[in-house]
Amino acid sequence: MTGRILIVDDVATNRIVMKVKLTSACYTVLQADCGSAALAVARADLPDLILLDVLMPDMTGVEVCRRLKEDPATADIPIILITALSDRANKMAGLQGGADDFLTKPVDEVTLLARVRSLLRASEIQRELRLREESYAGLGFAEASAAYVSLATVALVAPDPGTGMAWKRALSTRVNDRLAVVPREQALQGWDPRNAPDLYVIASDLGARNEGLRLLSDLRSRPASRHAAALMILPPGDAERGAVALDLGAGDILYDPFDPEELALRIETQLRRKRQSDRLRATVEAGLELAVTDSLTGLHNRRYALRRLDRMLAAPGRGVAVMMLDLDHFKAVNDSHGHAAGDAVLAEVARRLRDVLRPGDLLARLGGEEFIVALRDTDSDSALHCAERLREAVGSSPVTIPGRAGQIPVTMSVGLAMGHDRTEPGEDLIARADRALYASKHEGRNIVTLSASAA
Ligand code: GH3
Ligand code: MG
Ligand code: MG
Repeated sequence: MTGRILIVDDVATNRIVMKVKLTSACYTVLQADCGSAALAVARADLPDLILLDVLMPDMTGVEVCRRLKEDPATADIPIILITALSDRANKMAGLQGGADDFLTKPVDEVTLLARVRSLLRASEIQRELRLREESYAGLGFAEASAAYVSLATVALVAPDPGTGMAWKRALSTRVNDRLAVVPREQALQGWDPRNAPDLYVIASDLGARNEGLRLLSDLRSRPASRHAAALMILPPGDAERGAVALDLGAGDILYDPFDPEELALRIETQLRRKRQSDRLRATVEAGLELAVTDSLTGLHNRRYALRRLDRMLAAPGRGVAVMMLDLDHFKAVNDSHGHAAGDAVLAEVARRLRDVLRPGDLLARLGGEEFIVALRDTDSDSALHCAERLREAVGSSPVTIPGRAGQIPVTMSVGLAMGHDRTEPGEDLIARADRALYASKHEGRNIVTLSASAA
């Protein structure tokens, strides 16, 4: 993994030692020899990670950290504080100031590199989400759910119920979110998505040695828990497995016997990052949805329909039915009632079509007053039956438009083609359905025509 790392230390030999470790792991290194230089380089070069010495003549590392976190431009850069003295007060101030970790000199290389990998991976994911989010900015929902912070759920997976309860008691006065003691065997079971854990605090050894590490990789591999954060508790000084935990995807680690205050601070940091990623992901998903949705009817659009049809054709089953649907003499509706009434009719027609279909069916607006429907694993009898129901749903009762337009009768013609042969491309199938639709129009409209067979 490439990454630009800023080393901040007032002692040149410290910077050199650190630089050797990092360049041999193929990272690009930037340097600063005091607090103010660190702020300047961080703002100018936006490194991916900062290793920050705590004791410096002009400014403490904790202060530098606080200032970087205050500036929106640098707030997301992960920071590891490095110190010769590991007193509690300093450490807490650093974590409170937004630092992601606190390492003591001499820094253990395995631990350092695992930590660096973990933080860079996390910020890489954030950056990617952010880039995609920017491409949707201006579409109107970049602000969606921005300020609202809901209560998070923290699952405590301890070696035994007694320890779990002790963790919960120690955290309950320090963490505002929901705390749940969860036995190992329940950690993977189906959660209601509304209160699925946002963060798992897991002991490395549960019933058996490494059981917690196995649980961690299991959680990472399952869609339901893939985006949850994880923090692993390890036996005292077990830096080797601490590094493994980070590489398996733990966002943070802590060694027993831990300081509850420190665990609470680290939990807060993990939850803050998790919320931020969730928000970005939600925006990106909304943007993706918008890109494939027709805004007038809320149906999928042509682009989505063509891709989805190709996938339906590739799936096993009896056959795929494709229908082209087109409103009859729709131009006349616009001409006599106005374009706005025409729009309202289109939206109502879309609603009626959707009511007839099942969730797995494809329904999209191809453009104008033209729709496409595709049904999978079906035969021509059931497809014809469905097409008739769609035609009736539109034509059996007039569309009521509020205001002067009143009741507008509309009918719809349908062309149906059955795809049995998996080698026939989606486009050809659509073309056959289109010819059948043309025949329906030619025969007098408001009817369904089944295409004879593949040409
Ligand atoms: P046919 O029975 O042969 O299909 O006749 P038609 O009038 O429905 O067909 P034509 O393709 O000639 O006209 C379609 C009309 O649909 C043209 C346009 O005024 C109208 N139309 C297309 N898109 C929209 C839309 O988004 N909103 C509204 N209100 N009208 C639309
Ligand atoms: Mg028409
Ligand atoms: Mg038309």
